[in-house]
Amino acid sequence: MLFSEVSRRFDELSKTRKRLELTRILVDLLREAGDDLKKLTYLIQGKLAPDYMGIELGLADKLIISALAGISGKSDADIQGMFLKAGDLGTVAREIAMAKSQNSLMSRELTVDDVHEALMRLAMVKGEGSVRNKIRIFQDLILNGNPEDAQYITRIATGKLRLGVSDATILDALVQAFAEGSHSEEIQEAYNFHPDIGYVAQMLRDGQIGELLEAGPTPMIPAKVMLAERLPDIGHILEKMGGSAAFEYKYDGMRTQIHFQSGKVRIFSRGTEETTANFPDIVKSFLETFHMDSCILDGEAVPYNPETGELYPFQMVSQRRGRKYDLDRMQEDVPLVVFLFDIIYLDGKPLHRTGYLERRKVLESIFKPSDSFKTATQIISSSIEEVEKFFEESINSGCEGIVAKNISQESIYRAGARGWLWIKLKRDYQSSFEDTLDLVIVGAFGGHGRRKGTYGALLMAAYNKEKDVFESVCKLGSGFTDEVLFNLPKKLGDYSVDHKPARVETLMEPDVWFEPHEVIEIKGSEITVSPVHSCAFGMVEEGAGLAIRFPRFTGRWRSDKTPEDATTSQEILEMYHSQKKSMKGSSEPS
Ligand code: ATP
Repeated sequence: MLFSEVSRRFDELSKTRKRLELTRILVDLLREAGDDLKKLTYLIQGKLAPDYMGIELGLADKLIISALAGISGKSDADIQGMFLKAGDLGTVAREIAMAKSQNSLMSRELTVDDVHEALMRLAMVKGEGSVRNKIRIFQDLILNGNPEDAQYITRIATGKLRLGVSDATILDALVQAFAEGSHSEEIQEAYNFHPDIGYVAQMLRDGQIGELLEAGPTPMIPAKVMLAERLPDIGHILEKMGGSAAFEYKYDGMRTQIHFQSGKVRIFSRGTEETTANFPDIVKSFLETFHMDSCILDGEAVPYNPETGELYPFQMVSQRRGRKYDLDRMQEDVPLVVFLFDIIYLDGKPLHRTGYLERRKVLESIFKPSDSFKTATQIISSSIEEVEKFFEESINSGCEGIVAKNISQESIYRAGARGWLWIKLKRDYQSSFEDTLDLVIVGAFGGHGRRKGTYGALLMAAYNKEKDVFESVCKLGSGFTDEVLFNLPKKLGDYSVDHKPARVETLMEPDVWFEPHEVIEIKGSEITVSPVHSCAFGMVEEGAGLAIRFPRFTGRWRSDKTPEDATTSQEILEMYHSQKKSMKGSSEPS
């Protein structure tokens, strides 16, 4: 397939304002891909391979500027000036390629395969002379394509393609293109156990839908992790769980999925990135503790004090993530204990469809607890008093609350899903609406007075998982230090677009729109009904949505979360209902 066809469709995708239109364009593009389907699906994601392969492009702006200067005969400073004006290096590359193509007959047509292969080489170049090599590979690509190709290749190479399509949108399009009649949710579930869009695309195109749906978890391929819903008190949780449930400490560490096969251990993060190299101590103690052929375990790694057994805060583990140097010292300073709470594969057998209590039994049977590996502390209970006591114990042990787990026959492991089979209760949202929310920045309003030159407020949105859109839920103007505030236009500039992105829904008209990308943590005082926000629109009141009152930025950028991991509109709706219930409860005469 010619890459010029892809560029043309990418142009259409970035111009459309309608969610359904995105899918239609994608369906056409995917159907035309032929043998290039797999590579094309990665390119649509702005990637070259699934995340867990760890292939990173993200070329520095500086390198692209030098490469473009070399092609155009302009100076680096000239290109930098064009970049500042256009706000995007892709546009600059397009202009330069346009000028170049008028003076030359050299260009031949690039194929998807050419582009993928060259970008892969770019990602792999290492060592001495690597900058020069990278510049050369990139220049070749730009000189061989048409101006639109140059624009999109540059955006992919810098990690800034941003077509505004999520994995869910691509999966939806794949189903429509190749598997009409299948359920998107089932395909999504299969993808969550094997998060490789190229693999899923090929299976669907080749009619291997049955195999795809049956496969489940596979050792050495990270599954997206199962997540919890939230409720504000134990009574509601027990009610939702049908009277009784398993309750576990909610450890404040780092989600850790451990895979083992053929004598090899691989560790993956909550976001399916491989982190094995950062945790050689976990690998070593795993090999000492476990003796099976293959498995996939799920748990939370927490730093602790080996003298006292005391658990330390999460920040100490996050220091280790992505850190390759000085690991020995770190291991001594911050040893880790992994609290295991699930097993989804053992010795050739997927266990994701086995009930939770049975999985826990299997987990307990395969190892003896040690300093490095334990099972999550658990009780099974139907008594509010007993669970309250357990909750207090958990807080006193340095945990942040509890997670309730469904123990009925339906309690399967749902990869990538935030559902009612697991419900969390944290210390900070016991009484009023105190929990933090992770919201997506989708727009901004210009600042006045002291805030001239930056934004006065950001437009924040929750993710509506069912509709795959981002729904506005508040204007956020508090909680920013001056430093953060004045850096916002620069930090968010890469994502600004000149029209409302197709997957954003709001009745507000901000001065600047942003492609959903950045997730930040906010704290609010209450959830109210609002005529201008579209979160859970029409679900509580006709013609109105929900809004967060008095939102404040907590200072935490959730760079570990994709926009689709943000707090969902469905969660905010639940929070609104529980807030109403608890307000009723507290105003009742005693
Ligand atoms: P939070 O910021 O509250 O951790 P989250 O969005 O990262 O939220 P949630 O689904 O809301 O994740 O909460 C579940 C998280 O709690 C899991 O991802 C896991 O990292 C952690 N956790 C700690 N102990 C347990 C446990 N016993 N069972 C399940 N998850 C646990």
